[in-house]
Amino acid sequence: MKILEERIRKDGVVKAGNVLKVDSFLNHQMDVELFNEMGREFKRLFADRPINKILTIEASGIGIACIVAQHFQVPVVFAKKTQSINIDGEVYTTKIESFTHKRVYDVIVSKKYIGPEDHILIIDDFLANGCAVQGLINLIRDAGATVEGVGIAIEKGQQAGGRMLRDQGIRVESLAIIDSMDDAAGEIVFRQN
Ligand code: 5GP
Repeated sequence: MKILEERIRKDGVVKAGNVLKVDSFLNHQMDVELFNEMGREFKRLFADRPINKILTIEASGIGIACIVAQHFQVPVVFAKKTQSINIDGEVYTTKIESFTHKRVYDVIVSKKYIGPEDHILIIDDFLANGCAVQGLINLIRDAGATVEGVGIAIEKGQQAGGRMLRDQGIRVESLAIIDSMDDAAGEIVFRQN
């Protein structure tokens, strides 16, 4: 998606450790007009899928997921990160290792909000090693629901997540795919499609 690539080039900051900071428009301050264009694009890409719910993970996926959901006219559920779980049978739970914080979270979704009747689109801001998305897929499968696809704002194509998910036959649509980035030069190379 050209406008997202241009914005990353203009305002993204490449950090050491293969981290891209996009705090000025995506995950601290949020450019809602840009999110709206992203929502329109995801709707076009997944128009053939019977999506009735969007699932994301707190915190930075929530803003994007809400705007995307307006285009699909469906509710958003966000998986919650928690440090201590009381497994009381009321929640689906999985473990996710955070790429940016290098720690493992227990992640939960209430059984009230996903179930076998749901056809779910997963939305997240970044795809790196795929841990976050794989955790959400595990929750959806535990609930007996259907994964209709995964919509990602920025995929870091040099990391393994995209391939790992596509190899499982999951449809992954990323609006910008980065093939390489160099923190010394501040250079970002996007995949051409
Ligand atoms: P994964 O689980 O695919 O390894 O990482 C995805 C999660 O880590 C995303 O939800 C995102 O919040 C965070 N993340 C991964 N890479 C980056 C990055 O380069 N920049 C930022 N800001 N977040 C990232």
